Amino acid sequence: MLLANTALLVAEATVYFTVMMALLHARRVIGIGVFMCALGVMHFLETYLASVYYVETPVGIISPGSTVLFSGKLLMILLLYIREDALVARQPIYGLLIGNFLIVALVMLLRNHDTVGVVGGRVPDIGFVDEMGWLMVWGTSLLFIDSIAIIVLYERLGKWLGRHLYLRFLICGAVVLTFDQAGFYLALRYVSHVPIEVFFGGWAAKMAATLVYTLFFTIYLKFFDDETSWLTNRSFKDAFQILTYRERYEDLLQVVNRDHLTGAFHRRHYDTYAPDVLKSGLEQSNPVSFLVIDIDYFKAVNDRLGHQTGDEVLKTIARLLQENLRSEDHLYRYGGEEFVLICDRMDGEAAFALAERIRRIIERFSTIYLPEKATVSIGVASAPEDGRTIRALFEKADSRLYQAKSSGRNKVIGPAA
Ligand code: GH3
Ligand code: MG
Ligand code: MG
Repeated sequence: MLLANTALLVAEATVYFTVMMALLHARRVIGIGVFMCALGVMHFLETYLASVYYVETPVGIISPGSTVLFSGKLLMILLLYIREDALVARQPIYGLLIGNFLIVALVMLLRNHDTVGVVGGRVPDIGFVDEMGWLMVWGTSLLFIDSIAIIVLYERLGKWLGRHLYLRFLICGAVVLTFDQAGFYLALRYVSHVPIEVFFGGWAAKMAATLVYTLFFTIYLKFFDDETSWLTNRSFKDAFQILTYRERYEDLLQVVNRDHLTGAFHRRHYDTYAPDVLKSGLEQSNPVSFLVIDIDYFKAVNDRLGHQTGDEVLKTIARLLQENLRSEDHLYRYGGEEFVLICDRMDGEAAFALAERIRRIIERFSTIYLPEKATVSIGVASAPEDGRTIRALFEKADSRLYQAKSSGRNKVIGPAA
């Protein structure tokens, strides 16, 4: 019986990982929303199972909810971060937190109904929320901390482990799930005086789950991975800032320096501060990259749809740009529909990848949000290779932009291309 339970747990983990990873893998085709919704739905099942559904295994009595689904979800959030970045990963982190509190709030109202039984023999019952109850609130709050911790730790480990993704994955899983088990056990102990064996049983199961998932992840990397742009090392401070929406707060403080239509910094701000950004980057031997971004055939958009719609298009494109920045990136509205993006601590290769991503996002999303498809062309230049002054870098990036325009538009030209 113990072995049968263990085999079932492994089967559950296999199904969970295969389906979720397939959704993540296919996100460029089917959209990231599919992955996010699946993650949310599984979160609900997991919370329910963790509160009432337990099975016996060689390491003790454990719940498939905590072992397979909770561990799996946390690692999926980490994978989402590794594949996309903090801007994307923070969305389910906050969504799960808010969704859970919303469940509690709605059930408080729902339970006041006078209900009628419609299906013979079945009594409507939302007592499940009592079963999950405070444990759900506590568990979800822990998950919120876990998610931020696992990403920040992943970045910290990058310094020593670099591209050994699976090793970073394994250590992050083990450390954060240990923390989580301790946090969860404390709550259980406080409320229902559960014995310490429950802590160790659950901990061993989570460690085993981390091992199994790391194994799956390694197999995935070896046989199915076809993306070259795995996130390179970034500062953990930056990840933390984005995960806590701190960059939005800092943005607010800068409102006077921003253009009201696009939210980007004014040209005036560029003239005053861009040289400082470059200078301090060069002094610390960091690469600094320049992207000059210009909307394609924008005059024609104005002519066809009117100036007001043109403004909307400009605004949407600026928003898509803003949503894909790190806190060390500075976006300026350089001219009418031309933007300059200065990325501190980013080399030419990474800047080219960023520019490509921006180009694709705008192409894809403009068909959804705008009356017609809009595209941009981007020229990329990097210090120190392409120059050491603002002027030299701008000219280099601008001439590459010109090349992108003359070779068909909707294109990125960078140092490597
Ligand atoms: P391309 O860049 O692909 O060569 O063609 P384009 O038509 O976009 O050419 P260019 O970059 O020279 O066009 C700039 C046009 O952008 C001129 C003007 O009509 C429009 N424009 C500039 N600023 C604004 C603005 O604030 N609002 C609107 N609606 N249009 C603007
Ligand atoms: Mg243009
Ligand atoms: Mg222009």
